[in-house]
Amino acid sequence: MRDIKPFWQNYIDGAWADGGAGRIDVINPGTGQKLAEHALADAADVDRAVQAARRVHLSGALSDLRPVERGRMVRAMGRYLLDHIDDIAPVLTLEQGKPLWEARMEVEGAARYFEYYGNQAETVEGRSIPLGAGYFDFTTHEPYGVSAQIIPWNYPLEMTARSLSAALATGNAAVIKTPELTPLVNAWFAHAAEAAGLPAGAVNILCGLGHQAGAALSSHPQINQLVFTGSVATGIAIATAAAQNVVPCVLELGGKSAAIVHEDADLEAFESDVRWGIYFNAGQVCSAMSRVIVHESRHDELVERISVLARSLSVGPGIDRAAFGPNMGALVSESQRDRAARMVAQATEEGARLAAGGRKLNLPGAFMEPTLLCDVTPGMSIAREEVFGPVLSVLKFRTAAEAVEIANSTPFGLASGVFTRDLDRATQAARQLRAGQVYVNEWYAGGVETPFGGYGQSGYGREKGREALLNYVQTKNVAIRLRS
Ligand code: NAD
Repeated sequence: MRDIKPFWQNYIDGAWADGGAGRIDVINPGTGQKLAEHALADAADVDRAVQAARRVHLSGALSDLRPVERGRMVRAMGRYLLDHIDDIAPVLTLEQGKPLWEARMEVEGAARYFEYYGNQAETVEGRSIPLGAGYFDFTTHEPYGVSAQIIPWNYPLEMTARSLSAALATGNAAVIKTPELTPLVNAWFAHAAEAAGLPAGAVNILCGLGHQAGAALSSHPQINQLVFTGSVATGIAIATAAAQNVVPCVLELGGKSAAIVHEDADLEAFESDVRWGIYFNAGQVCSAMSRVIVHESRHDELVERISVLARSLSVGPGIDRAAFGPNMGALVSESQRDRAARMVAQATEEGARLAAGGRKLNLPGAFMEPTLLCDVTPGMSIAREEVFGPVLSVLKFRTAAEAVEIANSTPFGLASGVFTRDLDRATQAARQLRAGQVYVNEWYAGGVETPFGGYGQSGYGREKGREALLNYVQTKNVAIRLRS
């Protein structure tokens, strides 16, 4: 294992600080061993961070800048991340479990948000509304002020980058509550903010327990906007707390996303969608392809192909998996791995059949075999509940209408996919699927430029794309009565 700093601090008002709630052990899920300690924030630390961000906002140090200046700073943060990719990626792998090549992709993905939203800073423009000869009316988009951001452990770098870059580009200051399982890599946002010349207090980064620091941040009366990425239950708690102060939220929650595979689909090409869709980041992706709904005529061939794929992936410590290839790392923690294994066991008790994997690996650390379940029916818990692990469920359909009905049959609505050579059929399904994104013939098609978010219990509001900018600004209308 590489040497990494034994103790990591929070970052408040431009300075590194211990936490009022003590320290937390950060565990390497690739070994089960302690990796480092991180300061734990309490409510007083959260308050200091919010006050620092508020001071920056009220000073106008960010919001009064010409947008091109803010955009340059935001882009510089992204460049800083890329310049330090060799330092950041191993730490991400060691605390989160993903293969080193995936960690490097995550650093690049995080940097891409700063590039995109840095470029967008100058595009946030108001409009003039005609009210007749006696008036001049125009709108402006103003930053909310203090943007509170609560981050999950599956992509600790990219999820922070997604919200932070848009918040800064629009002139907000931010307080970030990092996930307690994977808090370390967020430190580089503090370094990046300093290197880019942002004022002290514009970016504050705290690790704390959800029910302490997280709850203190979401209920703080002086935050002005909140972005939460995480589970449905926590999203409900956070939105409820924010509602008490009439603070608007963006909620990016979980999913049980389905790919519909028609009888004319290219199954060989689809193997790559499965590989990325459910075994990337060991399935700990909110928009993972956790269900495949396949036409009954192609079922057996598809199950055979995916079983071979699942068995071909080498599973082990991410730090030894530097090169892109057929491999998978640890899950984030043993408890997350055990939860996934329990859900697989319950599925088999309910009548599902294991076509590949299903077991924990006999290794120290949080490892699980890439898993494939078939004979899954829509009523089973495995077909309805998010596993957040490398577990794919295969269901069958006879008619296109039945496929869409099954895809839409969970309370979630994050992503969905249609695999067919028939454009009419794909377009029809795209209209009927209740999900924030529909992928046709490529799972995860899209990018930072395309809006992302949920229908139903997968949340509301959109991150990514130009849509997201509107979550970070409020519209002011100025109506002027002309006197002469
Ligand atoms: P989680 O809800 O347990 O925790 C997320 C964050 O919320 C953590 O920082 C945690 O400390 C904090 N938190 C927990 N309780 C809190 C409380 N009472 N008040 C305030 N903050 C609190 O989620 P997780 O287990 O870290 O992440 C996995 C979940 O996130 C999955 O359901 C996944 O689908 C979802 N997710 C969604 C997206 C998306 O964009 N839609 C992206 C990534 C993850």
